[in-house]
Amino acid sequence: MSYKAEYIWIDGTEPTALLRSKTKILADGAEPPVWGFDGSSTNQAQGHKSDLVLRPVLTCPDPIRGGDHVLVLCEVEEVSGDPHKSNTRAQLRPVAEQFAEQDSWFGIEQEYTFFKGSRPLGFPEGGFPAPQGHYYCGVGAEAVFGREIVELHLDRCLAAGLKVSGINAEVMPGQWEFQIGPAGPLEVGDHLWIARWLLYRTAEEFGVEATLDAKPARGDWNGAGAHTNFSTKAMREGYDAIITACEALGDGDKPMEHVRHYGADIESRLTGAHETAPWNRYTYGVSDRGASVRIPWQVEVDKKGYIEDRRPNANVDPYVVARLLVDTCCTALEKAGQV
Ligand code: ADP
Ligand code: MN
Ligand code: MN
Ligand code: MN
Repeated sequence: MSYKAEYIWIDGTEPTALLRSKTKILADGAEPPVWGFDGSSTNQAQGHKSDLVLRPVLTCPDPIRGGDHVLVLCEVEEVSGDPHKSNTRAQLRPVAEQFAEQDSWFGIEQEYTFFKGSRPLGFPEGGFPAPQGHYYCGVGAEAVFGREIVELHLDRCLAAGLKVSGINAEVMPGQWEFQIGPAGPLEVGDHLWIARWLLYRTAEEFGVEATLDAKPARGDWNGAGAHTNFSTKAMREGYDAIITACEALGDGDKPMEHVRHYGADIESRLTGAHETAPWNRYTYGVSDRGASVRIPWQVEVDKKGYIEDRRPNANVDPYVVARLLVDTCCTALEKAGQV
């Protein structure tokens, strides 16, 4: 019997890349080979030189088609074999390798919002729902919208073997979160991109759009983030390393360097309201949901653990966040002799 391989890749759309996928039929027992696509239709090439290469980097069971069918996450390459400039995974690889012995772990909290037509799911036509306050982790038809999609997505993530660690309803109606991790720098991005693809694909079956827009509803409604929890071996063993990492993220140009790459439209989400710190002022603190970086209370009690960078947008590229956090924090930890 032949089987279906769904090749998934990240395109070149700016400012926020989109996911693309197409199906290849493979003979029983055959490994998914290198494949190609038309880069001129994905904002990755010009029409006169349009061929680009899909190089498989992670294959997992396809929880939608079932059977022997698979999902195949790919990196995009030029025909020369060089990584395409949109290939941020290739840019992360050398940084992850350089600091591999520090054993970085990530847990990313992916928030997202369902839309039905032009309105967030749960927003009545031509009006607004009751103000925020009872939707977060809520229960009941008045508070929760789209749970059947969320449950199906979770089951599919688990069946695909993704390191999903939980889900919850968020502060705005129609807004939800799932978490991926703890996982290594490449792994967390790989699993998150596949989980995003499964989310869009699952919502599609319900005629609902899932969006990672950072500020999907203007006004007094929470934005959507991708809080990134981060630790190294030294941080999991002692508090000095936790503080070194927090300080390194605030050093010199680092706050701007990070925020610039933390997702499109970040200024409209990191306003200082709605559990955020202003995008242009770096702070860190224990239990502080109004800080850029939070040290969870349990971490202060235990004097070891991880930090939460609350700045990344929902629409961030996890390969980019991982590269910046590993580079900034692991360099500082190495300098401080805390490895
Ligand atoms: P919050 O309390 O901010 O809502 P969540 O429970 O949603 O936090 O997410 C926390 C994430 O951090 C989870 O994905 C979890 O697996 C991850 N995590 C836990 N410990 C570590 C660690 N030592 N290093 C990195 N990530 C971690
Ligand atoms: Mn969370
Ligand atoms: Mn959240
Ligand atoms: Mn969080």
